[in-house]
Amino acid sequence: MIVDLHLHSKYSRATSRDMDLEGMYHWGKIKGINVIGTADFTHPEWFSELRDKLQPAEPGLFKLKDEISQKLDSLIPESCRDNSIRFILSVEISNIYSKNDRVRKLHNLVIVPSFEVASYINSELNKIGNLKADGRPILGMDSKELLKITLASDPGSLFIPAHIWTPWFAMFGSKSGFDSITEAFEELTPEIKAVETGLSSDPFMNWRLLELTGITLVSNSDAHSPRNLGREANVINSKLDYFDIIEAIKTGDERFVGTIEFFPQEGKYHYDGHKSCRVSFSPEETLKHQGICPKCNKRLTVGVDYRVNELADKPFGYRPDKHKLVEYIVPLAEIISEVVGVKTKTSPKVSQVYDQLINAFGDEFSILRTIKVNKIKNKYPQVALAIKKMRKRDVFIEPGYDGVFGVVKIFKPGELEQGKQLSLEI
Ligand SMILES: [Zn+2]
Ligand SMILES: [Zn+2]
Repeated sequence: MIVDLHLHSKYSRATSRDMDLEGMYHWGKIKGINVIGTADFTHPEWFSELRDKLQPAEPGLFKLKDEISQKLDSLIPESCRDNSIRFILSVEISNIYSKNDRVRKLHNLVIVPSFEVASYINSELNKIGNLKADGRPILGMDSKELLKITLASDPGSLFIPAHIWTPWFAMFGSKSGFDSITEAFEELTPEIKAVETGLSSDPFMNWRLLELTGITLVSNSDAHSPRNLGREANVINSKLDYFDIIEAIKTGDERFVGTIEFFPQEGKYHYDGHKSCRVSFSPEETLKHQGICPKCNKRLTVGVDYRVNELADKPFGYRPDKHKLVEYIVPLAEIISEVVGVKTKTSPKVSQVYDQLINAFGDEFSILRTIKVNKIKNKYPQVALAIKKMRKRDVFIEPGYDGVFGVVKIFKPGELEQGKQLSLEI
């Protein structure tokens, strides 16, 4: 099963108006995701929408009410209709507080098995701050206190520090995080069973920290629009049952197969730099400049790669003897936009080819991960070649920095023009 537990609803800031249950359901099917987080369950209006539109399915899981899903299904390509979408109640909280004389800003995910447990958490958090202002509420509360409330809410609830490396809002963030899990969670550290690696880091980077040994590395999309669902996700081979899914994540046993990853350089904070000065540095270059921007002489925003290096115990490239599946993908719309030669992946030309591929071959994850490229090479030779290259990790990336997304290119200059000939070799 493909499981994406961290995203946002239309009630979160800077989130698309289409991020409602209908949009998540529609795009969940087109992407080929099986279990999707509802996001934002602390928001009162969204919470009542969830109560209205969802009905219980398997233990701890929910599905859209039949009268809603049937209508939506008529608009979904037949090739993707069979997958049944399940929802899990989830939320991301922004914790801002002072600890050991420094301001800390951490984002944390809370995942729960029922509306009753969600209500309990909402009533506890309501005492602390305003849950109405944002689907991702900002609370002046220690992350450890949020963990305590989560633990008290239900044995089946799960707390996960989110995108742990991003500079501004994360457990290990260079600007307002901690240097260790223990510094943040003290005696409750053993209750941290999983951490989210975020778009700018991948398992390879996280394996370098001894403190993360035995902690499950999860990946989610953090999508703010339905088309971005599943850009990172978990692969879980458990029963279709909330408690089995959560146990798989908590234990990291064989039920947790691994993660599907963005190329981490594509994330917004992989390298160091200044967006306004257009300065982008690798960790080595940053060290050479002593962390100072050569254009404006201010401190550079230090990215995830640098920060991992700072906290790492193991050398670059280290991998444990036994580890989970790590699969890199480039979103299909990005592949198509490169192939058809347009910059924006939302252009009509890209959508047209995207829809044709989905109609012909099924959901996006099947196309990216499992379909035999031979099947698509006759009609779409360059797309087939691009997918083949992506699966071999044969791509070029300009790393992201200081809030600027990185750019992935699959073809070298000139290579694409030869694509038709090259495709004969597939
Ligand atoms: Zn976040
Ligand atoms: Zn600068």
